Amino acid sequence: MVETASTTLDAAPEKGRAEPIVRYDKVSKSFGNVHVLKELDLDVQPNEKLAIIGPSGSGKTTIIRMLMTLEKPTSGTIEVDSELLWHKRVDGKLIPADEKHLRKVRGKIGMVFQQYNLFPHMTIMRNCITAPVHVLGLSKEEAEERAVTMLEKVGLRDKVDAYPSQLSGGQQQRVAIARALVMQPKVMLFDEVTAALDPELVGEVLSVIKDIASEGKTTMILITHEMEFARDVADRIVFLDNGRIGEQGTPGDVLENPKSERLQSFLKRFR
Ligand code: ADP
Repeated sequence: MVETASTTLDAAPEKGRAEPIVRYDKVSKSFGNVHVLKELDLDVQPNEKLAIIGPSGSGKTTIIRMLMTLEKPTSGTIEVDSELLWHKRVDGKLIPADEKHLRKVRGKIGMVFQQYNLFPHMTIMRNCITAPVHVLGLSKEEAEERAVTMLEKVGLRDKVDAYPSQLSGGQQQRVAIARALVMQPKVMLFDEVTAALDPELVGEVLSVIKDIASEGKTTMILITHEMEFARDVADRIVFLDNGRIGEQGTPGDVLENPKSERLQSFLKRFR
């Protein structure tokens, strides 16, 4: 991403096309000699629920880690809510973004990981209000009000005074979801959020995500190995294969009528 100092910006978007909330434009990412993503073009529309499926190592996590600014593309550009992520536009040219700009764009994204990462020494309420108070500058009362609403949504209103260790893994993951939502992000990222859970706790977490998805107000990008869940929640499924989009379409297209042998054999593992 380095050769960007004088890259000229592409022309304005075509008229009449909806502006995506997230746009990857020819994004490549390598770690040393390993080419993880290869000229990825991917648009996500506002309020769309996009599921990314694919074999382990195909680059799924890297796609969303770049949105969180945890990884930087080797080349190409990423836009979130019409703001370039790693660059700033100055007089029609792209220059590398500074930390202040990165922070601003990062604020539009909420992420829930496999490991819920709650602060163990803080109550559930404090876990939920720390970032909105310190990052968004909300008053404690405003933050608490938002936190109660979100904890209610994930069915854990009564746990505000509990500590994470007093909750099950599924409950902790639901708190992590509430905590991300309190920040009112434009885009929510879910990276295999049930992978670390005991099987009997998976359902409650997926059902909370489905409820939030069905409200239709949040753009979601979900990496998942739960095909039934992807079918239920996603508007579109992208099959990532070796750093490229192998196939994409509605859950019906991708899961019921896979065209490529690669996708067919990938899906067989879940039957
Ligand atoms: P997936 O989420 O589909 O399993 P990832 O995006 O996690 O795939 O990883 C894709 C490839 O990139 C893997 O081969 C992985 O080992 C490699 N990779 C990911 N992160 C790093 C890193 N920080 N350093 C080196 N290699 C990495």
